[in-house]
Amino acid sequence: MPITAASLLHRGVKSKQGKQPFFTPRPNAATLPEVLEDYPVARRDPAPQGSVLDYLDRKANVAKTSYKTRWEVATHYCGSYAVVGRCHSMHRYAKKINCGREWCELCREDTEARRLARWLPKVRQMSSMGYWVITIPRELAPLMRTKKSMRRFGKKVRLAFKKAGYQRGLTRWHFFGDKDHDLFPHLNVLVDGKWIHPGELEDLKTILREKIYPKYLRKRYQDKLVVNYSYRDTPAKIMHTLKYVARATFLQEDWDKELAEELFNFRNCAAWGKWDQAQKWDAPHDHDHAAALADLANGICPVCKTKITWDRKPTPTTQLLAQGAVQFCGGYYLLPKLRAPPGTRSSRHRKPPANHKA
Ligand SMILES: [Zn+2]
Ligand SMILES: [Zn+2]
Repeated sequence: MPITAASLLHRGVKSKQGKQPFFTPRPNAATLPEVLEDYPVARRDPAPQGSVLDYLDRKANVAKTSYKTRWEVATHYCGSYAVVGRCHSMHRYAKKINCGREWCELCREDTEARRLARWLPKVRQMSSMGYWVITIPRELAPLMRTKKSMRRFGKKVRLAFKKAGYQRGLTRWHFFGDKDHDLFPHLNVLVDGKWIHPGELEDLKTILREKIYPKYLRKRYQDKLVVNYSYRDTPAKIMHTLKYVARATFLQEDWDKELAEELFNFRNCAAWGKWDQAQKWDAPHDHDHAAALADLANGICPVCKTKITWDRKPTPTTQLLAQGAVQFCGGYYLLPKLRAPPGTRSSRHRKPPANHKA
């Protein structure tokens, strides 16, 4: 006879021989059988029912913690907490914990500003910038719907540029164009670059297509494998393009809910090469905060240039505001310097060092 939950339960009922039941079944016990049947080894005494149900609940919760739920959790808390950090000279800052989703209206502006700021120290090392856009043909767009395929393609493109002679660069996906809400994945590539002679440019495009796409795709799509190039030769133009590339393009979750779920934990910005040169230009005046934000986004104090150590434990943003936090930009706050606790301000009250002699 197969062991089912029902038979197990039956064994527990007081028998005719007067054996004591080893547990007392509850009236709703009949709702359990299917689950226990899946475990034919469940011959041992059934656990008290309450804990079985707890266990099932816990299992159900684990299953529910999909990326969608995690997004939902992230949305729920977007911006309501921040982490506090201090540099070696005790300048204090706080950064809001944002969900970072492109379509979140609460944090989109902050996230775009932080993204731009993180790239700024690199881009400022370029005296002139080349801007490439690799566009996936519309027919092939459905293949670029997973993190894996986008990562793989991005890697291939970076390698292609490396092989074509670009020693360093930055890449970032845009998922949609400006005209409609159809998926339109294109990879932006920022490199050191200037004007290229048209003939030379065509050769370079051919090389890149060869390195990026397999032969059958090149044959089939030919010039539909769009590889565009332009260059930016002034700080203002470079900043404009940087802002354009750093901006979000996935502005509403319902444009593509499936892709939205897939993008949880997708790192869209990537870089290759060495970025150890001196900065070639200053950020233009309309981006006055950009340099300070770049420091903060890279974990450096903009005042004394020492490293900022961030707390592990988040603090509610409202609490920080009550403490006199002043909003800066990109979701960062400047916090007032901590006052020494009463009694420790004057040296008279300090505990003398161990080797102190009176
Ligand atoms: Zn958000
Ligand atoms: Zn400092």
